[in-house]
Amino acid sequence: MTTQPILSTRRLSIRFGGLAAVQDVSLSVARGRITALIGPNGAGKSTLFGLLSGFLVPTHGSVEMDGCVLNGMPPDAICRLGLARTFQIVQPFAGQTVRENIAVGAHLHLRSRRLALAQADEVARRVGLEDQLGKRASSLTVAGRKRLELARALATRPRVLLLDEVLAGLNPGEIAAMIPVIRGICADGVTVVMIEHVMQAVMQLAQDVYVLAGGRPIAQGTPAEVTRDPRVIEAYLGHGMAQRFGAQSQTQTQSQTQPEASHV
Ligand code: ADP
Ligand code: MG
Repeated sequence: MTTQPILSTRRLSIRFGGLAAVQDVSLSVARGRITALIGPNGAGKSTLFGLLSGFLVPTHGSVEMDGCVLNGMPPDAICRLGLARTFQIVQPFAGQTVRENIAVGAHLHLRSRRLALAQADEVARRVGLEDQLGKRASSLTVAGRKRLELARALATRPRVLLLDEVLAGLNPGEIAAMIPVIRGICADGVTVVMIEHVMQAVMQLAQDVYVLAGGRPIAQGTPAEVTRDPRVIEAYLGHGMAQRFGAQSQTQTQSQTQPEASHV
């Protein structure tokens, strides 16, 4: 049975002067699943998130969430409708505590300080920050700051959550610890779209993958399908590599080929 996508774009495009940073991107995000957005640096992934969340205004095309046209709306209105994002460059209010930082997100729906702080505590538990609530945000490790960024977005009670490289800069143990957190968010009914370079995590988490290169979508499918797609290998590794890589991968197992695609 096919269901209506929760989020979709039609020929979404934005130019920065002469640069077509995102060009004719039409995608459908399935409700209740985890969709990954991958592609080489500069592909336009973060720009696409900016367009979806209202931080950037498209030069062309449209964004819809649950039948509601989002383009033209300011970010806070889009967030109120249930679409939240994290930022690649994490910028918490450094002097404030973890609890206060998360409460900023909770205040989108809750006027009461007491209730916003209580919700911050609940969200902190969901992302594994419950022991850090009284700490200053500036004292968190990179992994802690990534969890805080996730918590701040989650506190706005999104239906769709856009994660921009929440695993970047984490060591393998920290990445492994984040996998069940992201899975748990999805299991709680939040549709997740994640920009991710760590292919191991994409393979474990995502059911659907879109690949962007040079601002354009070049492939779509399951993680296994896209990682063996010659267009994707070519986009990551450059001209002529697809043939060589393809020839190699005939003799390799899939798990051996994955790290190749993660060297980006
Ligand atoms: P990705 O997240 O896939 O690495 P980005 O979306 O950040 O890529 O950037 C896509 C392209 O758009 C890059 O060439 C980048 O330099 C350019 N770009 C991004 N934001 C701006 C901006 N505000 N003004 C001008 N160029 C930008
Ligand atoms: Mg980016």
